[in-house]
Amino acid sequence: MAKVLSKEEWKRRKRLYAYAKLAVAAVLALLIVVVLVVGVVKVAKNLFSRGDSTSSEEQTSTMKQDLNITELFLSKNQYSRPGNALVQVKGIVIHYVANAGSSAVDNRNYYESLKDGTQNAAESSHFIIGLEGELVQCIPLSEVACASGARNADTISITFCHPLIDGVPTDEAHRTLVNLVAYLCNQYGLDKTAVLRHSDLGSQVCPKYFAEQEGKWAAFLAEVDTMLAGMKKK
Ligand SMILES: [Zn+2]
Repeated sequence: MAKVLSKEEWKRRKRLYAYAKLAVAAVLALLIVVVLVVGVVKVAKNLFSRGDSTSSEEQTSTMKQDLNITELFLSKNQYSRPGNALVQVKGIVIHYVANAGSSAVDNRNYYESLKDGTQNAAESSHFIIGLEGELVQCIPLSEVACASGARNADTISITFCHPLIDGVPTDEAHRTLVNLVAYLCNQYGLDKTAVLRHSDLGSQVCPKYFAEQEGKWAAFLAEVDTMLAGMKKK
């Protein structure tokens, strides 16, 4: 025989049922919050890991590959590769070869020819950019070059070739110059204020084109700045 519920018992059960419904709703709400939080964290993690994988070392090594540097290191000698340590890089100094139509390798070989001292000249550059935009490295970045006087001690030197005596770089050489300077700034934590013309250090009109045309130099620095801004600093 079915038990007849008292009025109180009936009310109590109704209350319990209401509490149970509330508890289930609360648990469901909590679950939804947890799922949302986990989802957001996962998405954020993905974003960050994606950022990591394309920046810093990977990006730097890709850039270095794009630069396609040919290492033709000079013999150690007191006239073009003295072998002194380049301890701290505080700037990048730009030069031109002042020998219209000569190639990057021609100029590298000229530096090498100074080693016996018979030409009584001391000259070199860490990098030479050729007419086709090709890039030759003459001196490791752990050593000083003979390019920028007193600033040899704390700068990297880049010298570009040019087809005519006006010293205007070819488009290809210009492009390599922007890429190389931005790459080096990124590597050494420098900005465009650390990028100098040889003429900024003294009386030489070098590199002629940029030394004589402030607007072209400012435009070049702006290009470097834009490229640098697109890189994630180390
Ligand atoms: Zn110079």
